Amino acid sequence: MDRTKADAVRSTCPYCGVGCGVLLRATGDGGLDVQGDPDHPANFGRLCSKGLALGETVGVEDRLLDPMVHGGVADWDDALQLVADRFSRTIADHGPGSVALYVSGQMLTEDYYVANKLAKGFMGTANIDTNSRLCMASTVAGHKRAFGSDTVPGTYEDLELADLIVLTGSNLAWCHPVLYQRILAARSRRPEMKIVVIDPRRTASCDGADLHLALEPGSDVALFNHLLAQIDRQGAMDRAFLAAHVDGVAEAVAAAHASDVSITGLSEADLARFVALWIGSEKVVTVFSQGVNQSTSGADKVNAILNCHLATGRIGKPGCGPFSVTGQPNAMGGREVGGLANMLACHLDLENPDHRQAVRQFWDAPQMPETAGLKAVDMFRAVGRGEIKALWIIHTNPAVSMPDSTAIAAAISGCDFTVVSDITGQTDTARLADVLLPATAWAEKDGTVTNSDRTISRQRGLLPAPGRARPDWAILAEVGRRMGWTTAFDYDNPAQIFREHAALSGIAGGFGRDFDISGMADISDADYATCKPFRWPYAARKGGRFFAEGGFFTANGKARMLPLQPRGLAAPATVDLPYRLNTGRTRDQWHTMTRSGKSVRLAAHLAEPFLEIHPGDAQRIGVDPAGLVRVHNQHGSAILRALITDRVRPGQCFAPIHWTKQTAPSGVIDCLVPGAVDPVSGQPESKAAAVMIDRF
Ligand code: SF4
Repeated sequence: MDRTKADAVRSTCPYCGVGCGVLLRATGDGGLDVQGDPDHPANFGRLCSKGLALGETVGVEDRLLDPMVHGGVADWDDALQLVADRFSRTIADHGPGSVALYVSGQMLTEDYYVANKLAKGFMGTANIDTNSRLCMASTVAGHKRAFGSDTVPGTYEDLELADLIVLTGSNLAWCHPVLYQRILAARSRRPEMKIVVIDPRRTASCDGADLHLALEPGSDVALFNHLLAQIDRQGAMDRAFLAAHVDGVAEAVAAAHASDVSITGLSEADLARFVALWIGSEKVVTVFSQGVNQSTSGADKVNAILNCHLATGRIGKPGCGPFSVTGQPNAMGGREVGGLANMLACHLDLENPDHRQAVRQFWDAPQMPETAGLKAVDMFRAVGRGEIKALWIIHTNPAVSMPDSTAIAAAISGCDFTVVSDITGQTDTARLADVLLPATAWAEKDGTVTNSDRTISRQRGLLPAPGRARPDWAILAEVGRRMGWTTAFDYDNPAQIFREHAALSGIAGGFGRDFDISGMADISDADYATCKPFRWPYAARKGGRFFAEGGFFTANGKARMLPLQPRGLAAPATVDLPYRLNTGRTRDQWHTMTRSGKSVRLAAHLAEPFLEIHPGDAQRIGVDPAGLVRVHNQHGSAILRALITDRVRPGQCFAPIHWTKQTAPSGVIDCLVPGAVDPVSGQPESKAAAVMIDRF
């Protein structure tokens, strides 16, 4: 293990995609002392409230300690054999399309890699999708359409070097606090740096902003089309860069000129100020997150942003570029191992026959699906229709976190055979499982994660696994062996899996893919144990800047600008459902609170589910401050405490996603979100449900 002089273990925070380094010291009574790692390049010692409270969340009170089969304690041997037998029999009787895995951005890269290898190479199904589908799928699709690859070109240093930072659909101050702190610290050194926030809601990120554009929900494409048209009108296109490195310019610009900016609801003065700041700043970084991604036009929103950076050549240079920030600690690692139903490991494409053959050969796999599998929402619909008969859910809680969650819970409940691997058996999803498999948690397990700027860091375990919990890679590999693939899943430790993934990335590099860490393919167990954070690519070309001189990953090496037109929201407001419900995170909680909910300190921030509503709407509804309201539509209903505030605009409201049937039976909000998805990315629209609000 890598230890400091003070005998601390270096690891990474398990919450958001900033990927902060932490120093861990066991307190001797089962607890953990957690401090920021001053040497980690993501945070240089900083931690936010969630990271600082990590030591309060490692108790084993509610941990799943033993395998459970149909509610009774079972031996590992019996539980694993049952899983292997049921998956084998289902595939034999109904084909590979009748089984599915739903995994998570909480998994370590090594766990994720084995899950994908098992599903795509050996079970023969592409029905493996991840909760990153709810998080980053639109960015993946947008990157691939523009760059030919899912490449995040920028780094955290670019945010500090920029003249202008545009935060769009990102409450960075609450959702990626350490990155926001880095930006504010950079601005205190260079007060001329400007920050623009684009968000229908006035969030905490607006406190430090020079301009807040409270656009109408879903109108981002119109706003960035307007910017592109103005870039063209004002002669700010980088003609030399475009001629050398970009296709589709004329069509994209013509579409931008034809686009109607009035649907943004923004004033001419605000639009003019935004355009002037953007065009007048030499170095611009546009940071985007769930407000862009979680939309039925999420991929188009991403491409509208990329269009502006390509048009001005503000990409591949210090202090410039589009920059997606991932929600989860290993959303990026999941993308690298092919965690989505339409991808293969190492950013190879499942539907490309050459890529498929190369991976099949490398794995010596008996079968590979030729077409993309079912994406998350469609996967659970297929479960509900009885088409998927064996389902394995790992470290995620779709019974409350998926859109239309009441229907999702019913689908899981009706599935012939459901396996859940998790650290607790107390989630809404775990309660529906036929087989529960106890997994090791953060601070107990070893592997790697990739943060939002492509930095791969080690997570290291120093606490003993409670009960009979096992690492995910070991559980998955044992099921693979019991299904008959003994050689392919003959793993003894995560370092072995990391080396295999790194070697496979060398093959991907041969296909001109961006993700290449083949320089790590021979890493020894000892070097893996002490491995310091490094940024990919890590091959012949280590680190380095993507797209500095073009070099996009398309067939002709050129990026593509796309002609885009705004599309309406999936569920328009009506007389019966006149309010627009936005959903998101609070500062101190994480997902469905299975970890952060254990900290009394974190719970003190916002202790119960609430609904932000505008004072005028509250008056119309007849609700007083802290009164109760019922929010409802055709999909479900929730009873929430009214938080009356002009942070939300009239006709709009906001509710946090964290509470579950276990923690607040009437406060589950995702039951109100329709299952409408982006046709390109498959990502659901979690930011703009149409609802009615009544006083309760
Ligand atoms: Fe953890 Fe994210 Fe906070 Fe860093 S910013 S300490 S990674 S939650």
